[in-house]
Amino acid sequence: MRKFLLALLLLIPLGILAFFGLPRLIDAQLNSVATPGPYPAGASAQKLHRSLFVADLHDDALLWERDLLKRYGYGHSDLPRMLEGRLGLQVFSTVTKTPRGLNVESNAADSDNITLLAMAQRWPRETWNSLLQRALYQAQKLHAAAADSDGRLVLIRTRNDLQDFIKAWQQDPQRLAALLATEGLQPIEGRLENIDRLYDAGFRIAGLTHFFDNEVGGSAHGLEKGGLTPLGRQVIHYLEEKSMLVDLAHASRPLIDDVLAMATRPLLVSHTGVEGTCPGSRNLSDRHIEAIAASGGVIGIGYWSTAVCDTSVAAIVRAIRYTADKVGVEHVALGSDFNGTVHTPFDVTGLAQITDGLLAAGFDEAAIAAIIGGNVQRLLLASLPPG
Ligand SMILES: [Zn+2]
Repeated sequence: MRKFLLALLLLIPLGILAFFGLPRLIDAQLNSVATPGPYPAGASAQKLHRSLFVADLHDDALLWERDLLKRYGYGHSDLPRMLEGRLGLQVFSTVTKTPRGLNVESNAADSDNITLLAMAQRWPRETWNSLLQRALYQAQKLHAAAADSDGRLVLIRTRNDLQDFIKAWQQDPQRLAALLATEGLQPIEGRLENIDRLYDAGFRIAGLTHFFDNEVGGSAHGLEKGGLTPLGRQVIHYLEEKSMLVDLAHASRPLIDDVLAMATRPLLVSHTGVEGTCPGSRNLSDRHIEAIAASGGVIGIGYWSTAVCDTSVAAIVRAIRYTADKVGVEHVALGSDFNGTVHTPFDVTGLAQITDGLLAAGFDEAAIAAIIGGNVQRLLLASLPPG
């Protein structure tokens, strides 16, 4: 009996240690790269890359315990590595609920991994059972990092903010513009007015669904995979009224159709693959690529294997080439999904390899400038709230 008690006394602190150490292990295991850096690129690609405004439409860094301002040896990005990769603008997305047994085909909405992750990462208690609070807490992490960054990390809320940032960036590019996006609108918890809470916290991009169908509409990975709900229709109108961008990444095909039928502003797909180079339930069909481009929108190509059917720069470039050939270079962008539990060819310090790959694929410098960040800059300057 004493032996048993002793063993138990030893096991309890070990269990606690394991519980709180788990997020770091998951982070390092699931946000992995094919090869460690440094990531070589040709001299002309390096030179060109250093002259470009580089933008990425999707990074989940805020989900993890890492301090955005510190450099880490695992995960895909942090501010020091982003600046080394010459990134000028990053959309940071907040992840608030993912189903257990997560898969790309079909997920119910009745289980959640993020509750345990929030507890293990010692997030505030109010985040344990509120998806809205989880989004607001991750936004708060970005605000705090920006405040501590000596002006190197700047949250963008308006067109004027972005114009001012670009002027400063032209003087000294060792700075990063940050935008907030929600990955799925489950944080509004079924209430239209909670969009105001997100807006007030700085969110300017709204993904409609993530891995499961929610109150707004169907997910490409949900059970029903339906279109917009009646609330979803109100949501689209309200997002447009507030000059927030609608992001169709992870949306079911009927949901994309419903939004296309009613949207009056350019649409975004922050991180995706395209069926033309990689078939799959959440990769865009040719018809949807054409319709999103016709809205004036931008499509961010992802770096992971179910998006581009390989873990390589060549596969990413293939998807970019395909999309550009279909609708023109002005509608293609980068949407890495860094830190979104994906395996990628490189971390953010390797971005010049994309420029290298685009050069090798025969794109001229103006086209590369558009793809690598110019298109995102144009879309945001036209779509963010003025002021
Ligand atoms: Zn995603």
